[in-house]
Amino acid sequence: MALARTYLYRFPHFCSSFLSPPIQVSFLHHSVTSLLPPIHTHIISSFATTSPSLPTPQAPPSSSSSMLPKHDHSSGRCWKPMCLYFTQGKCTKMDDPIHLEKFNHNCSMDLQVNADDIEHKRSQDFDFFLVLDLEGKVEILEYPVLVLDAKTMDIVDFFHRFVRPTAMSEQRINQYIEGKYGKFGVNRVWHDTALPFKEVLLQFEAWLTQHQLWTKESVGPLNRAAFITCGDWDLKTKVPEQCKVSMMKLPPYFMEWINLKDAYSNFYGTEVSGMRTMLNHSNIPLLGSHHLGIDDTKNIARVLQRMLSDGAVMQITAWRSPDSQKVRFAFKDGSSSSSCHQNKSKRFLKGNRFI
Ligand SMILES: [Zn+2]
Repeated sequence: MALARTYLYRFPHFCSSFLSPPIQVSFLHHSVTSLLPPIHTHIISSFATTSPSLPTPQAPPSSSSSMLPKHDHSSGRCWKPMCLYFTQGKCTKMDDPIHLEKFNHNCSMDLQVNADDIEHKRSQDFDFFLVLDLEGKVEILEYPVLVLDAKTMDIVDFFHRFVRPTAMSEQRINQYIEGKYGKFGVNRVWHDTALPFKEVLLQFEAWLTQHQLWTKESVGPLNRAAFITCGDWDLKTKVPEQCKVSMMKLPPYFMEWINLKDAYSNFYGTEVSGMRTMLNHSNIPLLGSHHLGIDDTKNIARVLQRMLSDGAVMQITAWRSPDSQKVRFAFKDGSSSSSCHQNKSKRFLKGNRFI
């Protein structure tokens, strides 16, 4: 209870979502938040709901219980895979001890911080960082976002949806998902839960609004918050492409972002080509399944926590012009469309460190 009160005091933007009823979406019927103690009410997403007809979640077979997270200050707890029904507000097994023992239902579990971690932290221009790492090359297949408090470095909420392609035959979708998620053993949960991109963005916007991070009336970017991506591909290339396929306008909150690879290279003075390079350079073990979006997002958030802990001050690295749609970058050679999944790297400007 004490911890829950502390969170509510610290995160006024997030208070309302934990105290008010969850946002209702069309496929969900029953809220479970009222059945949980206050601490759980905080930790779970405000979208957490239950649907009795859904099958049992699957565990990624590649998961390893031998890796302990660097930031896990608890007493030797083993890593376990996220319940991907839970992350999308559709777990029906919250009262099943065996299920709870097998799957993680706390998105912040691998990202806990203590007093030592924030000793050298500097003041930031933003209140929250939204770590985003899309999956899907032909069309977007997964849309995971983790919200990190810029002051405390705690994970305060998350938004996760699997995304159903818009312009693809059922046969092609089945092949695509088998190839992409079959190896993780999560293709069934994808088929059970995936929604069209347009519907995912509608839910995401409702979630942003609930957290006072953006409103429909806004014509500009996020309010006191910034997207963090691993490379420029997610927001420079893929989201605009998907918006065209889904026949929708590019939302204004996607007009600027922080490319963590640029920020990392600039801050530490070493070029990095992707998430793995940053993890290796910072001696942070990779957790979960690489290229499962929700796991990658957590690993990227761990790199961000380390940078903040080391004294980095995060600043926007890319801006899209609403008129010309051209993107300008804070760093030289910023025209690269590289993502976390490519080895292409770019040069950074020496002597232009953020600190
Ligand atoms: Zn579950």
